[in-house]
Amino acid sequence: MTATRSCLIIGAGLTGATVAWQLARHGFKARVYEQSDVVGGHVRSEWIRGIPYEPHGAHIFHTHDSEVWQLVSKLTSFMPYEHRVTIRVRSHQLSWPLQRSELPQLEEWPQVQRELANLPQHPDTTNFATYCRTLMGDTLYNLCVRNYTMKQWGRDPESLSSSVATNRVELRDDDHRGLFRDPYQGWPEHGYAHLVESLLEDAEIHLGQPVTHADLADLTRPGEPVVVTSALDDFYTCELGPLEWRGIRLESQFIPDVTLAQPSMVVNDPDLAVPWTRTIETKWALKSLHAIRGTVIMREYPGAPAKHYPVPDSVGTNKALQTAYEAKLAAYKRNPLRAAGRLATYRYINMDQAVRQGLDAARHIVEAH
Ligand code: UDP
Repeated sequence: MTATRSCLIIGAGLTGATVAWQLARHGFKARVYEQSDVVGGHVRSEWIRGIPYEPHGAHIFHTHDSEVWQLVSKLTSFMPYEHRVTIRVRSHQLSWPLQRSELPQLEEWPQVQRELANLPQHPDTTNFATYCRTLMGDTLYNLCVRNYTMKQWGRDPESLSSSVATNRVELRDDDHRGLFRDPYQGWPEHGYAHLVESLLEDAEIHLGQPVTHADLADLTRPGEPVVVTSALDDFYTCELGPLEWRGIRLESQFIPDVTLAQPSMVVNDPDLAVPWTRTIETKWALKSLHAIRGTVIMREYPGAPAKHYPVPDSVGTNKALQTAYEAKLAAYKRNPLRAAGRLATYRYINMDQAVRQGLDAARHIVEAH
């Protein structure tokens, strides 16, 4: 008689939950160990008096990956929402990404115009600062990017990799106001917990149980596959040293007397005198709620002791440590170990990529076992 195929998954965030879902479809028994008391990782939504907000920061699902979209939209109902962001520059409210057509309102426009006329053909990818300065000129960089980035990352933009900017910082001239260009975009009508719980519906879940490499011998049989979605410095109890992370803290406020409090779901604030980076009003995502009075805004403060963002430094120090941790995973012979998701791969990925990595990890396990 063949034993039931099984797998241990460490972490019940979006990636771990996707692995569990996909393996269950192939007859695997998935055991998911989650260190916190709830599932979902940083992807969480809550409600105050019927108004949604996200205590761990804004998440908008967007993708061009039709397999990923089919999966998530089958499990929960996504309301169509095209995400828009505004940046506050003194008294001006500009679109983010910046649009050339809106720039003449800036007092600095003559200087900006001269700089835009003298940009190189391709941005300089040496580091984040050189990339942005050669993409938009020094004046726009100093007004909109430099200080925001100093606040967000707590370090000089020159010490960050240009990879932070290549997919996320643009200067547009097409008046496309949506932040993303993906064909599939939305926000889940019943919140993200419903999506994650649906993905986990066939899994055996253990909450409040952190797992490190030292627990594998007790929790698995030899040869059983393991998917690690937790940070590898946690999984290896910092054996090679801690990885560098940037965390955020959200402070929510209910405002009773208005229907919507700001011009878009997210308003960025590059002013160094303002301690938060952005203000988020999740209610923008659900049009059906727009007429209701009362809203919730959340201020996002950078520098919290949490693992929200891996830090892509310009010389690759953090990546090198991650590579060393990945080598330890590969060298472990008792169980096949596979890293997936933002934390375990130490990559600044979006939600759809987290789901994609979960699907790929599951496919790999099904093929190998
Ligand atoms: N950024 C900026 N000014 C802004 C918004 C973003 O300089 O008004 C830069 C900043 O370095 C930030 C990066 O662009 O870390 C990515 O921003 P995004 O809002 O896409 O970050 P996420 O939503 O992934 O946290």
